[in-house]
Amino acid sequence: MLEIGHAIAGEAGAPAQRFGDIYDPNLGAVAKRVALGTAADLERAVAAARAAQPGWAATNPQRRARVLFRFKELVEREMDDLAALLSAEHGKVLADSRGDIQRGLEVVEFCCGIPHALKGEYSQGAGPGIDVFSMRQPLGIGAGITPFNFPAMIPLWMASVAIAVGNAFILKPSERDPSVPLRLAALFQEAGLPEGILQVVQGDKEMVDAILDHPDIAAVSFVGSSDIAHYVYQRGTAAGKRVQAMGGAKNHGIVMPDADLDQVVQDLAGAAFGSAGERCMALPVVVPVGAETAEALRARLIPAIEALRVGVSTDPDAHYGPVVSAQHKARIEHYIQMGVDEGAELVVDGRGFTLQGHEQGFFVGPTLFDHVTPAMRTYQEEIFGPVLQIVRARDFEEAIALPSAHQYGNGVAIFTRNGHAAREFASRVNVGMVGINVPIPVPVAYHSFGGWKRSGFGDTNQHGMEGVRFWTRTKTVTARWPDGSLQGDSSFVIPTMG
Ligand code: NAD
Repeated sequence: MLEIGHAIAGEAGAPAQRFGDIYDPNLGAVAKRVALGTAADLERAVAAARAAQPGWAATNPQRRARVLFRFKELVEREMDDLAALLSAEHGKVLADSRGDIQRGLEVVEFCCGIPHALKGEYSQGAGPGIDVFSMRQPLGIGAGITPFNFPAMIPLWMASVAIAVGNAFILKPSERDPSVPLRLAALFQEAGLPEGILQVVQGDKEMVDAILDHPDIAAVSFVGSSDIAHYVYQRGTAAGKRVQAMGGAKNHGIVMPDADLDQVVQDLAGAAFGSAGERCMALPVVVPVGAETAEALRARLIPAIEALRVGVSTDPDAHYGPVVSAQHKARIEHYIQMGVDEGAELVVDGRGFTLQGHEQGFFVGPTLFDHVTPAMRTYQEEIFGPVLQIVRARDFEEAIALPSAHQYGNGVAIFTRNGHAAREFASRVNVGMVGINVPIPVPVAYHSFGGWKRSGFGDTNQHGMEGVRFWTRTKTVTARWPDGSLQGDSSFVIPTMG
C-alpha cells in the first residue's frame, strides 16, 4: 500500500510507528496510509528550518518573490494532476478541486508583489536631525495546521505569505488528504526554494501538540473546527506564540422580499451543496423574510434540489461528490435525524443515498429542512454536509438578528435589490465576511479572510496585508547623525519632540 511520508530537510523522514488510513471516498475503501509523526520528527524539521531561515531572510525580497513566481508556473503546469490527486482523497469534483488550487495560487500571485507589501514607514525630521523608520521583519519559524476540506488553498494561504516575508514554515496538513500539500512542497523545492524553508510533517494531535509546545516555533496559523481552534489558540498563546485560529461556521443567506428568487435559488444550490457542503463558507441556512418570500423560495428550491446530480468525484456532470469519511457521513445523517426529532420539517431527505457500483462510497443526498428554529441544536451547530435549512423570519430586524446572535460568525449573505437594506445589513451584522448578492463572499487574495466569534480566535486574518502583518513583526528605528558639535546637557527627562 502506498505510504505518504513527511518532507523534512528534503526527505520522507524516519520510518513511522503509527499510520492513519487515507480513503478513496468514492469507493469507501482504504487507498493509502499516512505516517503519523512524533515530536522527534518535528525536532528534525525545526533543526533544518533553523539552519536555513537566516539565509532566506537575508535574500532580497525580489529574489524570494521570483521563487513564488516559478512555483506558480509549476502548479499551473501540474494543475490537472494535482486536481485529480485532490479529488481522489477529498471527494470533491475535479472542477472544484481546480478551484481549490486556483484560490491558493491567487495568494501566491499576491506574494509575487511582496517587496511592495514589505515596505516600511518613514518620517523625515521627526525631531531635530532625527528620522524615524519602521521595517517588517520575519518571525523566524512559523507553522500551519490545516483542515481536510481545502488541502491546497489553505496550506497556500499560510505558506506563501509566511515564506515570502522571509520565514521558514512547517506545515502539518490534515491526515485525511495529505498528498496534495506534500506535492506542493516538492514543487516549491523545484521552483528553487532552499531546503528547510518549507517542510511538511504529517500527523495528528500528537504532532499538533509538539508544534504548540516547541519553543523555536514563533507563530502558528490554524484552520479547522472551533473546539480544536480554541484549544490551539489557548495552548499556543500560553506558550508565548502568536496564534491565529480559524474555526467552524454556520453561514446564513438572508432573502429579502424584493430579491430575484430565480437567481437566489441558483446561487443557493451551489453555495449549500457544492463540495457536499464541506466548506466553511458554504451557505447551509437560508432566511426568507416574510411568509410570501418563504413559500415562493421553498417552491423553487425543491425542484432545484431534486435535480442535483450526486456522483463520483471524476464525473464531469456531477454537482458534488462523496463526503470525506464514513464517520462524517454517519454524523451528517445523525444530524438529519436530530432535525426530525426536534420538530423541523424534512422536505427532501438525502439519507440512504447510494450510487450504483459505488455502494460503499460516502455519499449523502441533498437534504432540505423547513421550519427550523433558533432553539434547535441542528441550527446552532455546524453540520458540514449537503443539508440546507430554512429558518423563516418575519422581518429584516429578525433576519439580521439571527446570524448576529449565532455562535459562529464566518460569512453571511443578503439577497436584495434594495441598496439601503444591503448597506444597513453590511454595516450592522455581527459577522466577519459579508456578501451582497454574493453567496460565498470569500475575499480575494489581496484582501483578507477571517470570521468573528467562534469562527476565529486571535486578531489577525489570513492573507492580504493582514497575513503580512501576522507573519512579520515591526521594528521601529529612531536615527540621528550628530555633526560632532555637542548639543545641550545629558538629558534625564524622557525625550519629547516639544
Ligand atoms: P479538524 O478540526 O478536525 O482538523 C483540523 C486540524 O486539526 C487537522 O490538521 C487535524 O489533524 C488537527 N486536529 C484534529 N483533532 C485534533 C486534536 N484533538 N488536537 C489537536 N489537533 C487536532 O477539522 P476538519 O474536519 O479537518 O475540517 C473541517 C472544519 O474546519 C470545519 O469545522 C470547517 O468549518 C472548518 N474550516 C474553517 C475554515 C475557516 O477559515 N474558518 C476554513 C476551512 C475549514
